[in-house]
Amino acid sequence: MSNLISHPLVQAETSLKALNTLAIDSTAEFFAEASNLADVEAVREFAQTRQLPIWVLGGGSNVVMPDRVSGVVLRFVGTDYNILEQDPTSVTVEVGAGYGWHEFVLFSLAQGWFGLENLALIPGTVGAAPVQNIGAYGVEVEQFIESVLGVYLATGESFSLAHSQCDFAYRESCFKQGLDGQALITSVTFKLLKQPKVNVAYAPLNQMAAQSGVPSPLELAHWVMQVRSEKLPDPAELPNAGSFFKNPVISQAQFEALLNRFPDMPSYPHGEQVKVPAGWLIDRLGFKGRCFAQAVYVHKQQALVLVNQGGSGAQVMQAAAEIKAAVYAHYGVELEQEPRVFGRR
Ligand code: FAD
Ligand code: NAP
Repeated sequence: MSNLISHPLVQAETSLKALNTLAIDSTAEFFAEASNLADVEAVREFAQTRQLPIWVLGGGSNVVMPDRVSGVVLRFVGTDYNILEQDPTSVTVEVGAGYGWHEFVLFSLAQGWFGLENLALIPGTVGAAPVQNIGAYGVEVEQFIESVLGVYLATGESFSLAHSQCDFAYRESCFKQGLDGQALITSVTFKLLKQPKVNVAYAPLNQMAAQSGVPSPLELAHWVMQVRSEKLPDPAELPNAGSFFKNPVISQAQFEALLNRFPDMPSYPHGEQVKVPAGWLIDRLGFKGRCFAQAVYVHKQQALVLVNQGGSGAQVMQAAAEIKAAVYAHYGVELEQEPRVFGRR
């Protein structure tokens, strides 16, 4: 079918290089941005008429792009917000999926709405936050999500899933499982606090609190931003997708066997299981700074971060596969990749 089209929302043969933080050179067969439900319906009709799949993209900070994405790449860019309810202790606010995540964290703090401070400076959009239940420094976004609203891509039917229906877990939700590729999230409803309740359990924040006293939520957000800026490469300078692997959560028995072999291995209780830092496992194998095919390398300070230096999605995946294989061979631990390969079910 010819790609010559004249459509108010859809354009053909669009580069996605600036739309993914690994800066992978990739082209979308078709690309569209939708600001509201009417736009979404128009793009759905376009895709259905041509029997094309729709692939939802947010800020591109947790995806690995192939050279070419067949079908329609759709970004929802609506940023409206609406206060649904409030009382002296909390506020319930619905926020458009296109709102930048970090911008929303700062906006909420400026309103005196608290809870999201530990999640400052995470790249991406509000709409993607529930997808992997973003988390940092002991806080997961699900703690503040009331519901997730959107549209089923196959039928155009709207949905509103309550928190209990989203199957949130550690870096998981139904949007990565049963609804993978089937749902466009158009807004998220958060219930935020009006009384500060700061969480400084993680070591860097704890150390800062020991020196400066208990921070206000806004101060805490700035601490988080400072620690992150010192430790994590900025994708604008060194293209990356954050942590490339999830921290493995293993059984107590497997953990004890590993601890016998590696007595200095850090660990954290995770329910009845144990969480082991993937970065430590990788670092110990000497991967920091390792370059693959002169195109992708392991960040020198952060073994969990793969930096792309002009490589393709396949080269990024090949580097990840080599690291996974080495970790499995040495520790018997299966690493799970965090960024999704885009445009595949
Ligand atoms: P994208 O990368 O565009 O998409 C990710 C997935 O969500 C894709 O499968 C996509 O199809 C789907 N998706 C996106 N938008 C929608 C929507 N509206 N409806 C339905 N599906 C959608 N993650 C953490 O959890 N904690 C961190 O501390 C953290 N730090 C990071 C630091 C850096 C430097 C980077 C680059 C990444 C980091 N990440 C972190 C990963 C990433 O920022 C988050 O997962 C973020 O939520 C991805 O948002 P995005 O809009 O870029 O999503
Ligand atoms: P870190 O402090 O070097 O710690 C390494 C890992 O140990 C972290 O991933 C964290 O797990 C775990 N950890 C540390 N202290 C913990 C505690 N008190 N209780 C339970 N687990 C603990 O981590 P980092 O790489 O600098 O990242 C700091 C935070 O930002 C982490 O929460 C991390 O998840 C988040 N982050 C995520 C991404 C991403 O792309 N997903 C990228 C950068 C940073 P958890 O990951 O479970 O918190």
